[in-house]
Amino acid sequence: MTIRQKTLLWFLIPSILIAISTAMFCYFYTRKIVERNIFDQLEIAAGELQVNVRVFLEAKKGRVLDFSSDGFVRDCTEVITGRTDSFQFYIERLNNHLVENKKPLDIDILEILIIDLEGEVIASTENYRIGKDVSGEVYFTEAINRGSGISDLSYSPDFMQNTFVVSRLLFSKEHRNSIGIIANRFSGDTLNKIAFGGISKEFGEEGRRKGMGETGETYIVNHDRLMITESRFVADAILKQVVDTEGVRHAFDNGVGMTSIYADYRGIPTLGVSKYFEEMDWVIVAEKDVSEAFAPVVWLRNFFIIVGASGILIMVMISILISTGITKSIKKLIRGTKRIAGGDLEHPIKINEMGGEIKELGKSFNMMMRELGKSTRENRELFLQVKKGRDELIEKARELEKANKEMEDFVYLTSHDLKEPLFVIGGFTSRLSLAYNDVLDDKGRMFIRRIKVNVEKMNQRIHEIMEVLRAGKIEYNFKDNDSGAIVKDVIGALQEKILENKITLSVQDNLPAIFCDEVRIKDVFLNLLTNAIKYMGNGNKLNGDKGGLVKEGLCSSIRIDCKKNGEYYKFIVEDTGIGIQADYQKQIFKIFKRLNDIDVEGTGIGLSIVKKIIERHKGDIWVESPVRDGKGSRFCFTIPKIRGQTSTFNNKK
Ligand code: ADP
Repeated sequence: MTIRQKTLLWFLIPSILIAISTAMFCYFYTRKIVERNIFDQLEIAAGELQVNVRVFLEAKKGRVLDFSSDGFVRDCTEVITGRTDSFQFYIERLNNHLVENKKPLDIDILEILIIDLEGEVIASTENYRIGKDVSGEVYFTEAINRGSGISDLSYSPDFMQNTFVVSRLLFSKEHRNSIGIIANRFSGDTLNKIAFGGISKEFGEEGRRKGMGETGETYIVNHDRLMITESRFVADAILKQVVDTEGVRHAFDNGVGMTSIYADYRGIPTLGVSKYFEEMDWVIVAEKDVSEAFAPVVWLRNFFIIVGASGILIMVMISILISTGITKSIKKLIRGTKRIAGGDLEHPIKINEMGGEIKELGKSFNMMMRELGKSTRENRELFLQVKKGRDELIEKARELEKANKEMEDFVYLTSHDLKEPLFVIGGFTSRLSLAYNDVLDDKGRMFIRRIKVNVEKMNQRIHEIMEVLRAGKIEYNFKDNDSGAIVKDVIGALQEKILENKITLSVQDNLPAIFCDEVRIKDVFLNLLTNAIKYMGNGNKLNGDKGGLVKEGLCSSIRIDCKKNGEYYKFIVEDTGIGIQADYQKQIFKIFKRLNDIDVEGTGIGLSIVKKIIERHKGDIWVESPVRDGKGSRFCFTIPKIRGQTSTFNNKK
């Protein structure tokens, strides 16, 4: 995953999720608060309307009560209902009194009625009413039954407007019995003003609608589910607009109002508060459209969406810019490091456009590149010097090898050439001793004998030198040979000596096949095993009588072993003999090198020949000593592996 993808995944996605969840929380929380505030507002509006309607109605009832206590009205009514002769006169006087003295007291009064207990209008501010029967009207029956009454709002064709009537019983002077009913018909407009435009001017509380915004309204619904105040939205709604909403139904059905979101009488989602107005069996409603109520929240939501989307876009762009900046610098670094890896240590990485840690990294790279360049140059010089010294060394080695070979050739030839004069000297010495034996005295004969011995010695030496040199010169017959079979042959040749010296011999099973000159490798094993027997010493022979060891760990034994050693086979010929001091371990491979204090027969050329043979096989030879308890020698030589076959020779057979 690239840095850019990682940045987007680990930085942007969590940020976006946090931003979205925060915005959603804020949105829904704000919406809840707004909803609660609007409901509170509507609750207050509905409550106030309820109080004002109550106050208004009480005021109108109070007006009727006041009129009912009017003495003139009472007296006239008593006379009129008593049907005395002068009742016609009193009707006129009462009518005049109502028109002139009572009706002007309240501008909402449309009509004042005085009704007898049978329901016949006996006096009125409207003459045409007199004699009419209103016994079927609610205001009449309620007054008769309960002492006072109030009618619902209804349309009056006479006044061509909506009206309601408040009535009250009239009592005789002594208040002993009822004599009639007084009823005031009021204009319904006043009620409408309270609901729609604020409480009527007479209460000095206009402007309620201002707090309700563009869609908020308060209205009253009567028991017939008809609106009895004006609608803000529907013209001529009074007593025509049916309001059968959830809020109104709940109020009528349960006798208490409710607060909820529902579709209003227009079918528009609304936040509404309804209150049941028991006195009149009305429902007072305050509502506000959801669209207006939540407009700030919608604005907030849109704000969140726009700001959030812009923020996310900006964050994406910033993160892309930052990651591009970083990756650009990193790509530069990668290109630079690839260049360095490719060997270009001359052109530093351009770090001018980089910043911060990347720039520091770039600086470090350049510093590293400079140091690398410096050390590479030094190394190159060193390498050239070493290379030069190695050409020279090889040259020297070749020269040495050549000189050595020339020397060996020279020695070989000289030795060979010396043999002839030596042979001649020997011959003449023999002839001299034969021909002049009688002439020579003892001293002369002794000289001749000594000449003969030394000639023989010299002859032997020359022979030995030539033997050693021959091992390096002669043609080798390389082929695959079973080293186990070679060892077996050599052991066979030495069997007698091994038994004679009571030596235990152990040979590893399955010795490998090796690519070698069979005769020469036989010489190697023969020399090494002969030496192992010769230099076994006396202290650790097997006790033949008892058939056991003289001392534990000190028996005379020889072990032949082979191990894989990388590209070589490593052969081991190990004995428990007298061992070789560390100082002499390298010298014994030199010609005629024998250790002075050893009383064992030998020529000192065996290991020189062995070394030459091993070198001709591209191997190496060395000795490790002591092996155990300060004794023993372990001769090791290596032969390159050519084929992986193993010997069929098993020493146990
Ligand atoms: P030599 O004819 O004396 O055995 P070599 O070249 O075979 O000559 O050995 C050189 C010398 O190395 C020996 O004289 C002897 O001192 C020492 N040497 C060789 N093999 C052994 C051995 N297995 N244990 C102790 N000394 C050894």
